[in-house]
Order: sequence, then C-alpha cells, then structure tokens
Amino acid sequence: MFTNKTVLDRRLPCVHRYLSLPIPDNTTQCMYVWIDGTGEHVRAKTKTVDFIPKSPSELPIWNFDGSSTGQAEGSNSDVYLYPVALYRDPFRLGNNKLVLCETYKHNRKPADTNFRHTCKEVMDKAAEQHPWFGMEQEYTLLDSDQHPFGWPKNGFPGPQGPYYCGVGASKVYARDVVESHYRACLYAGVMIAGTNAEVMPSQWEFQVGPAEGIRMGDDLWMGRFLLHRVAEDFGINVSLDPKPIPGDWNGAGCHTNFSTLAMREKGGITHIEKAIEKLGSNHAHHIKMYDPNEGRDNSRRLTGRHETSSIHDFSAGVANRGASIRIPRQVAEEGYGYLEDRRPSSNCDPYRVTEAIVRTTCLD
Ligand code: ADP
Ligand code: MN
Ligand code: MN
Ligand code: MN
Repeated sequence: MFTNKTVLDRRLPCVHRYLSLPIPDNTTQCMYVWIDGTGEHVRAKTKTVDFIPKSPSELPIWNFDGSSTGQAEGSNSDVYLYPVALYRDPFRLGNNKLVLCETYKHNRKPADTNFRHTCKEVMDKAAEQHPWFGMEQEYTLLDSDQHPFGWPKNGFPGPQGPYYCGVGASKVYARDVVESHYRACLYAGVMIAGTNAEVMPSQWEFQVGPAEGIRMGDDLWMGRFLLHRVAEDFGINVSLDPKPIPGDWNGAGCHTNFSTLAMREKGGITHIEKAIEKLGSNHAHHIKMYDPNEGRDNSRRLTGRHETSSIHDFSAGVANRGASIRIPRQVAEEGYGYLEDRRPSSNCDPYRVTEAIVRTTCLD
C-alpha cells in the first residue's frame, strides 16, 4: 500500500531540483482555485504575472472552459474567475500565490455554485455582530482503488473503538498526509485550529477557526484544496462523502461552531438560547443548505445513530453529541461562549452553511 509513496520519495530530490530553480525578479506564479459545477470539488490552473500581488484586487480577472467543469454549455463556455482571497503557495514557495476565486457567468451573474456572492452580502450586513465560526472538517482517505486507505483489501478492520485520536501503526493510517497538510495550511495562511484521527479508521478531521464572517468559507475551501493537493503527492484520494462506508461505521460531518459578540460576553447564554430557538424554527431550510443535494447526501449520515441526530428532528442539549445543536459543557458552566451545529455534512459548502446560520439568527 505504500508503493505510490515510495515512488514519490525517489522522485522527490529531482522535483526539488527543478522547483528550486530561480525565477525572474517580480515574477509570480498564481494558481487560481475555484469550486466546480459539483459544488463539492475544486479545480485550479496557473497564470504568471509580472509583479508580486499584495491583495486579490490587484490580480486580473481570468476565465476557464465551463463546459469541462459542469459550469456552462459548450456554445457559450467561458466562465469568469474573480480573485477574492490570496494565500502563500506551500508547493511552489517564494512569492508564489494561491488565489481563491469566485465564478461568474458570461452575463456577469454569479455561476450556479458560486454561493460566496450572497454569503458575503449577508456577512457584510451582520458585520456589527461579529459572527465567528469554527468548522470541523471530517474526511476519509481512500486508496487509488477508492477503498479506505490502509483497510484490508478483502474485508474490514476491527470494529470502531481504538481509532479515535489513535496512536500506533494499526490504529491510524496515513498520518504523514495529515501532518503535511497541517503545515501546508499554516504556511499558506489558512486559520487551521487543529487535527485529530476520527472514529472510523482512515477518517480524520481538521478544524478551521475561529474565523470571522466570509473568512470562514474562504479558509475552509482553501484548506480543502490543500488537503486534496497534498494527498495527491502521496497517491491518496480524499473523500468528503458524508457516509462513505454503510453500516456500523461513523459518517463524516462538518460541525459548525458559531458565536456572535453578544454570545461571547458575560451572560451570553441567553443569546445562545434565542439563536437555538430560531434554528429550531428553520430546521428544514437548514438541512437543505447543509449538503450540495438539499439533504439527500446527509440523510445517509443523520440517522440518529453514530453520534448524530435524526435528519427529521431538531434537538439541542448541553454536551449532547446526539443532538442537532450541542452547547459545550464549559459554555453552559460559564454562561457564555458558542454553540455547535452538528448537522452540516462533510461535503457542505461553508458559504451556504454560514450564510444560513447568520440569516436565521442575526438578520431575522
Ligand atoms: P469538538 O469538541 O466538537 O470536537 P473541536 O475542538 O474539534 O470541537 O472544534 C471546535 C471549533 O470551535 C474550533 O474550530 C474552534 O476554533 C471553534 N471555536 C472556539 N471558540 C469559538 C467561538 N467562540 N465561536 C465560534 N467558534 C469557536
Ligand atoms: Mn472535533
Ligand atoms: Mn469529529
Ligand atoms: Mn464537534
């Protein structure tokens, strides 16, 4: 199972030699990154510019062939890329940049999977309430045959129990991918908060936050891009499927921790409770916003088992990991802090999730 990695290790000195070739002063390789027509996967391509960009607005609007990404018809295929956030490039190093982009159609209207556009409007409206988010991105590593990485090829590993936050060769698989991704995020400027091995073997989590407003979606998408890109170097695939293995194996979610300034101040628990009440009145809408297929993906995961609530019911509780919303124990004791919405699917669009939460709880 380490074949790909071994090949890579032999190739590495050679790749490094080319990547350390000096490039002309003031030349920057800018890798434009965008969300494709699935609303779940990312695409990227690179442009050379003859200056060192300090902000995304200095970079040119670009375009791509939307008919090849599920984003346009062949007869009118150009989709525009508008640079919106800049990150340092942990692969090419130097002054080179990763450029997160929004997609726009030929008529300059947001493309169908551009949910950042309205998210940004909502975050601007709620700016005075200083909404913070922390998202816990769970994911599963797959071998090149799409089977979970490190699992026996003709069967299953032992039952769940020893894997969560596990240590040891038969407890966790591909830690080197996780460590490399963590560094890459820190280098790039993604606000990564931590990582842990998850309940199902070869399932992991990284957290981003606390990030204010639109930065939550930006940094989580860039964190996902970095994960796919790092894993590519190891010959490993990343799945964001919310229930990659049916049966007695945990699914993958994207718990979304949320607070406003009022919730974070002394006595803020009353604001947390008010927000939970509003979330309860809008359960069906939130479920629609919490995966790319209006709840169909998440319905395989939110069964009421394996540390989830049922997709049909709304519930909230202190330290309750079987509820839709969990109030962390410490928050209940101190009387202020944040809430955790446990419903979003691992393949959710963080722009849709954070927009829905702010619309429901801050802009009613
Ligand atoms: P869990 O116990 O559910 O596994 P994690 O430690 O994985 O929790 O994730 C908690 C997340 O909550 C982190 O991303 C952290 O940045 C975020 N967070 C902490 N405080 C706040 C806050 N006041 N508002 C929003 N998010 C917060
Ligand atoms: Mn967590
Ligand atoms: Mn988790
Ligand atoms: Mn959680």
